[in-house]
Amino acid sequence: MKADLILAGGVVRTLGRGGLKRFTHLAVAGGRVLAAGGADVMELRSSRTRVLALRGAAVLPAFNDAHAHVVYYGLTRFGADLGPARDVAGIVERLRAHGRRLKSGEWQQGMGYRASGLAERRPPHRLELDEATGSRPAFIDERGGHSRVANSAALRAAGITASTPDPAGGRIGHDPDGAPNGLLQEGAMRMVADVQPLPDRRRRSQAIQLAQKLLLSRGITSVGAAVNRGFADDLFCYQRLAMDGELHMRVNEFLSWELLEAASSLGVHAGFGGDVVRAGPIKVFIDGGAERVVMRSGGGLWRTLPDELNALVKRASDAGLQVAAHAIGDGAIEAMCDAVEAAGARGMRHRVEHCTICPPDLRRRLARLRMVAVMQPLAVRAPRVAPGVFPEVDREDFAPHRGLERAGVRIAFSSDLPVTPDPNPWAGIRAAVEDEINGIRVLDALRAYTAGGAYASFEETLKGTLEPGMLADLQVYAADPLAGPQPGWDGLRPQAVLLGGVLVSGSL
Ligand SMILES: [Zn+2]
Repeated sequence: MKADLILAGGVVRTLGRGGLKRFTHLAVAGGRVLAAGGADVMELRSSRTRVLALRGAAVLPAFNDAHAHVVYYGLTRFGADLGPARDVAGIVERLRAHGRRLKSGEWQQGMGYRASGLAERRPPHRLELDEATGSRPAFIDERGGHSRVANSAALRAAGITASTPDPAGGRIGHDPDGAPNGLLQEGAMRMVADVQPLPDRRRRSQAIQLAQKLLLSRGITSVGAAVNRGFADDLFCYQRLAMDGELHMRVNEFLSWELLEAASSLGVHAGFGGDVVRAGPIKVFIDGGAERVVMRSGGGLWRTLPDELNALVKRASDAGLQVAAHAIGDGAIEAMCDAVEAAGARGMRHRVEHCTICPPDLRRRLARLRMVAVMQPLAVRAPRVAPGVFPEVDREDFAPHRGLERAGVRIAFSSDLPVTPDPNPWAGIRAAVEDEINGIRVLDALRAYTAGGAYASFEETLKGTLEPGMLADLQVYAADPLAGPQPGWDGLRPQAVLLGGVLVSGSL
């Protein structure tokens, strides 16, 4: 077989068995890697082969972001951007400006603030939102996606009053006199979300395309598309875009726990689909975010109680479906281990999303049950940049990349976009490598952002390295990133990104 494309004269790292070993040439044929080697790779050239001189540029496998909210990120681009607001007045001002662009009666959305980052160190009150929105219903999201504030009109639409009880797995905020203050946490967010008009398929497709542009520009060609709700519409939109030739990344689409019955009755197994759009894991929330994570020492909020979780993991496992469980605290991670063990589902690669507070005994259990830890390496910086958000624990048990690896747990890295507003993997790789307590090697951090995600979606024989036979999903950097100082990694961008050997971002 001859090559369609040869990248010649650069620094090529396949990240395969040879680790960080450097080659100079890479040959691609039929969308896959044909060979990686030295100048002898040129023997695969024919008259039809395109040869690109790398002139010292570096080639790496493209990244796999194993957990990013693709559609949700895109939808935030249509809401008010509340990320830069420094105080409640800033939120009100931004909502007012954004509201001028909306049609009358249209719901208003806004995203990206952090209550702990506001001068008042509290979320806005519904009456403060009302100042900007008047009678228009508005529902804004705190960064992290675990807490929202509804204005008075939105609370009214949902029928939430002083006498409304907390739903299972959720909390409604109240003023001292008992009136709802607009704050809805975890499962309670549903009460308003359920009466809010849903974005249509056109808007969802636009959202996917916005996210795709961002992800590709960061060298990410494979994504685990995380969801919080059961929208079969998203799967439809990915498929439609793929059929129209508009999808230029590979999507492992999570299915909300609400789709478990539908998926299993259709006979959908983990990995159903192809190498472009495939059915991913069933997503379930065990604990909450921030101060609502479930710890063995007590506290936190169960979004899914252990009994329900056991039933769900059993049902999914019996149907051949993988489960991705949101679990941040050690109590939640333990509950997931219990559920997988009780279901006899060892080896199904059930995933723990976040896996942030994980002491040694749980690391050993995860390894024994052959589960995957899908982590956000930037969590390493959380205790410093957002103190008090997570429970105080031994730093060795917090974001324990090294400990998990030593225990033999497979790790996949991810951004959790838009929780991390910029999905650039290099910032996370740097954080994971420079961590003085739980630090890992550069090679292992790179693998967590490439082969790790492929393993999590059962595709490790298809992608994640640039060894011969693997998909030619790769990225090209003007200079070798591994030769430069790590502080430069935070702003690093590939010059070109190829999917199956075809240019999908940048230029060559
Ligand atoms: Zn997430």
